[in-house]
Order: sequence, then C-alpha cells, then structure tokens
Amino acid sequence: MIFDCAVIGGGPAGLNATLVLGRSRRKTILFDDNKPRNAVTAESHGFITRDGIDPQEFKRIAQEELSRYLDVRIEKQRVRHINQENNLFQVETESGDVYSAKKIILSTGFKEVLPDIPRVKEFYGKSLFSCPFCDGWELRDRPLAVIAADDTKAIHMAKMVSNWTNDLILCTNGSKDLSPDDQEILKNNGIRLNEKKITGFIGKEGMLERIQFEDGTSVGRVGGFIAAEWKQAASFESSLEYTLNELGGIETDSWQRTKTAGVFACGDTRIAGPSQLIMAAAEGSMAAMAVNAELIEEKFNQEKQQA
Ligand SMILES: Cc1cc2nc3c(=O)[nH]c(=O)nc-3n(C[C@H](O)[C@H](O)[C@H](O)COP(=O)(O)OP(=O)(O)OC[C@H]3O[C@@H](n4cnc5c(N)ncnc54)[C@H](O)[C@@H]3O)c2cc1C
Repeated sequence: MIFDCAVIGGGPAGLNATLVLGRSRRKTILFDDNKPRNAVTAESHGFITRDGIDPQEFKRIAQEELSRYLDVRIEKQRVRHINQENNLFQVETESGDVYSAKKIILSTGFKEVLPDIPRVKEFYGKSLFSCPFCDGWELRDRPLAVIAADDTKAIHMAKMVSNWTNDLILCTNGSKDLSPDDQEILKNNGIRLNEKKITGFIGKEGMLERIQFEDGTSVGRVGGFIAAEWKQAASFESSLEYTLNELGGIETDSWQRTKTAGVFACGDTRIAGPSQLIMAAAEGSMAAMAVNAELIEEKFNQEKQQA
C-alpha cells in the first residue's frame, strides 16, 4: 500500500497534521516513539481548553480523536531511515518495516541541551523551566533565578522573567561577558547579578530550594528559567536535503515546504523562535493543508496530461 503521507513524530505538530490529513480523506501513517520535548513536565500551559493538561493526556485525547478517521494509522515506533526513490519516499522503522508514501511531514521536535550542572535534570520540568510563557504564571512573585551563560540570552531572559517576579537573580554560571550597559540595565531594574560558577542545586523531589556556588556560598531560590541550547530530536538517516536556520531548525517556506520537494516540516523541528504546543499544532495543520493542496494539484495535472 502506498500512503498519501507519512508523518514522522506524533507530538502536537504531527498529531494535528494527521488530523487534518485524515479529515481530507488522505491515507496517512503517523510514526511516534513518544519521547516528546516536554516529557519532563506534568502540566502543559497556554493551550486554550487544555490549560494545565498532562502532556500524555493531551496525546491520549488526540490519538482517540484520530481513531475516528479510518484512513489514519498510527505506528508507535521510531523511524530510522527515510529514502527517496523516484517520486516516492521509503520510510524504514527501527523494527525493519518499510512503508511507502507520496509525501513526508517531519514533526520530530527539538531537545534541550541543558548546561552541565550537577543535578540539573532532577529539577528541569518541575521547578526549573525554559519558557516563562509556559511556566511563569505558576512561579509568579516567587524568588527566582535565570540561569544563562550566553550574554545575549542572559539579558533577554532576565528582562522577560522580571515580568513575573521582582525577586530575580541572573546567574551566569561563571561567565563574565555581560557588558557594563547590560549590568546597568539589571541594576536599574532590581535584578541581581551572580557570575559565580554553579556547583549544584539543592532541593527535594525536583523542587528547588537553593543554588550552590563554587566558593561554597548559596542562595535561596524556589525556581527559575534556564536559557538552554537546542538540538534536533530526530536522529534518523536520510537522503533528504534541507537547510537549517541559525537556531538549528529546518527551514521552510510559509507553506512548511522544505528544500526537498514533497517534504514538509512543522513544529519545534523547524524552530525559529518561541515554541509552544499550540504553535506546533497550528503548523501541523498548515503542513497538512499544503500536502493536500499538492496532491490535488498533482491529480489534476495528471488528468490534464492524459486528456
Ligand atoms: C520543560 C518544558 C516545559 C514546557 N512547557 C510547555 C507548556 O507549558 N506549554 C506549551 O505550549 N509548551 C511547553 N513546552 C514546549 C513544548 O513541549 C513544545 O513546543 C512542543 O512539544 C512541540 O511539539 P512538537 O510536536 O513539535 O514536538 P514534540 O512534542 O517534541 O513531539 C515530537 C515527537 O516526535 C517523536 N519522534 C522524534 N523522532 C522520531 C523518529 N525518528 N521516529 C518516530 N518518532 C519520532 C518524539 O518521540 C515525539 O513524540 C515545554 C517544553 C519544555 C522542555
């Protein structure tokens, strides 16, 4: 069987793409190995009607909705290889199964690369986060830290987080790159600066209590935000060609088309700025419409040539 579209990655981007394809009567296969970027969190915020939902519950509801569409199939396994042969794509999974599809949607997401600080993973997603729009409300008016070594990210994140609390410390984890102008901005806005190397986080069950520094001092903080690095979550081999933007996201046009004809990308994998579930879902919807539009055009062109 040849699928109209193979969607690789079943987070909000891939799920919404699949929904729109299913409703467009497209034979669609969605691959997902369920390792989303927000796996570390118990609550997801900012998606209207789903504010505060457990991300796994979000996925369960989405998959239930997809089960109404008979042309949709979900394969809960990892894709390890995508190859293009003539006008078709061959998608190979980790168990060695091979599926053919006319179009590909990449919705494989991004992963954070956290700073190398002992115990950081214990707190990330519980009291340390990456996006104040996602988790700032829950931490409002509390003693917080911004942890960022890169000077541009540090000043940006400190300004942002100051919107949610007046008790803020910017920890640069040993970096001393902040310009005198930026230091002045912090001072004038009551944001304290700590340039010491962080040696660890103290707290219980992921809830931060103190940040410890290399000189033995520590400061009480109940949470904060980390300006992390990002990398692509997918590691499959592929003969597909695409260009990456300056943040490492796959570049597309406004119809989510990549450099390779027939291949689309949506959600965090084409990250170009702030990222949230609702944005990923919207991009998935757009990618599915673009796939649908191309398939319809191809059908009409074929009929024209045959006439
Ligand atoms: C700590 C934290 C808290 C967050 N809180 C919020 C919040 O409150 N609100 C909010 O809106 N956003 C939040 N986010 C951001 C949100 O998680 C992302 O923006 C969103 O998950 C992006 O959706 P996506 O579909 O692009 O990718 P993902 O949700 O990451 O989904 C990608 C899927 O593709 C799968 N996949 C990858 N490679 C393959 C492969 N080769 N084969 C098969 N499957 C594959 C993965 O296993 C995964 O299931 C948070 C992120 C973090 C890190």
